[in-house]
Amino acid sequence: MMEIKYVSTTCPYCGTGCGFKLVVRDGKAFDAAHRQRSPVSGGKLCPKGRCAHEFINSPDRLEKPLIKKDGEFVEVTWDEAYDLIAEKFGSCKPDEIACLSSARTSNEENCLMQKFARVALRTPTSITAPGSATHPPSRGLAAVFGSGAMTNSIRDIAESKCVFVLGSNTFEQHPLIGRSIIRARGAAARSRTRC
Ligand code: SF4
Repeated sequence: MMEIKYVSTTCPYCGTGCGFKLVVRDGKAFDAAHRQRSPVSGGKLCPKGRCAHEFINSPDRLEKPLIKKDGEFVEVTWDEAYDLIAEKFGSCKPDEIACLSSARTSNEENCLMQKFARVALRTPTSITAPGSATHPPSRGLAAVFGSGAMTNSIRDIAESKCVFVLGSNTFEQHPLIGRSIIRARGAAARSRTRC
């Protein structure tokens, strides 16, 4: 008999953190269902989040390491891949190495990456993709508010009377934040109508 489970999780695509339920059919991620109680997205998802489960079982997903030999990528064992990585790292001086971790990694994984960079490779240069994109605004926030992180809740945006957006295409980069801006505009229009 077919077994279906609903697993509450968080969309991995952008930093908005929308919640949804992963529909798991016979042990395989199959669909994304709305999670009404998500405090961030209130049951809504943008198209990226709606399809967030698809890469898990995509036939295009790389599942085995490949090494280029004579100009062609060839499948190899993990041991062979790790040996090559260790050999390449060993042939570089610390100041010749930088570590870049994916925007899709968790805080814990980023912490491991920077520890690996500092302790194993002895390089101070490690950076996350979102860190590189948001470094200047983070510095500005830290100077003004004392913290380089978001200083207000996403819910506040929908209740704002004025939203000032700088250096962001919010509707593409963080669509559910964009939705909060539209809701703020609707609320402002309604309050103007009442005056
Ligand atoms: S806005 Fe879209 S991509 Fe970003 S977390 Fe929400 S559903 Fe995912």
